[in-house]
Amino acid sequence: DKFREGLTKTRDSFSGKVNELVARYRKVDEEFFEELEEILIGADVGVNTVMDLIDELKMEVKRRNISEPSEVQSVISEKLVEIYEAGEDVSPTIQFQENGLTVVLVVGVNGVGKTTSIGKIAKKLKQEGKDVLLAAGDTFRAGAIEQLEVWGERVGVDVIKQSSGSDPAAVMYDAVQAAKARKVDVLLCDTAGRLQNKVNLMKELEKVKKVLEREVPGAPHEVLLVLDATTGQNALSQAKIFSEATNVTGIVLTKLDGTAKGGIVLAIRNEMQIPVKFVGLGEKADDLQEFNAEQYVYGLFA
Ligand code: GDP
Repeated sequence: DKFREGLTKTRDSFSGKVNELVARYRKVDEEFFEELEEILIGADVGVNTVMDLIDELKMEVKRRNISEPSEVQSVISEKLVEIYEAGEDVSPTIQFQENGLTVVLVVGVNGVGKTTSIGKIAKKLKQEGKDVLLAAGDTFRAGAIEQLEVWGERVGVDVIKQSSGSDPAAVMYDAVQAAKARKVDVLLCDTAGRLQNKVNLMKELEKVKKVLEREVPGAPHEVLLVLDATTGQNALSQAKIFSEATNVTGIVLTKLDGTAKGGIVLAIRNEMQIPVKFVGLGEKADDLQEFNAEQYVYGLFA
């Protein structure tokens, strides 16, 4: 399946190392845990998360009276899933409004795969029978509008746009009116992602949000933050910056196929308390999956 395929690099590196560790040790002792800790940190699981995990593992090993290193492996899988699912609000997909329009604001730094992810999500929602409209809210980056239009054509979804350089809040206003008039189910809103001017970016997001709030009750219903898994701990710091500025409801973690450090999923979940809703596993329209902790952890080992 796609998950397994997308996690090939992480699996090769991570479970390769764990297997090697398990084969080398004759009993589960302090040193064993220290080495395991290093492997997990090396996979970008995040220091705090690793500490939690190791503590849990030690307790479980004691409780079950485990002494064979090979027996620890399945406990690691169990605990990884538990850590992921321990957080509140594990809603695997977009929370749709029961009646009327669901507005999804998509934020993130340039280059992380925001446009691509919007295209992929649009395709997925369409396949689920939803009417989707895109709003070309990144009026700043050269080519952003055209790129979104290419995706729109590819997946058969219309794009509401204005000219490059125009006010994103005005684009959102237009898009919401169009979405209402056409009675679509979901409006996916692209936004600009220039982090080098953080203050302006956040002001712009604020303004865009205000328009959405004013025009649609409860909007934006979801704020999805797109993060690039290959940037490792950088992704975590972006998550911190964006969640300070807006109420991020979910993460789209892209390029999981391109990294051996797929442990970042757990770090984000555990340290930010924001669920990863989708993962990008390639460049094509179908290379997007709803996140599933069990499949993910299975993909790390199996
Ligand atoms: P944006 O600036 O955030 O809108 O980023 P783009 O959507 O233009 O994506 C930047 C690059 O990342 C493009 O070359 C995409 O094809 C690539 N990309 C996006 N998502 C993924 C993914 O999940 N896997 C891989 N391998 N590449 C991706």
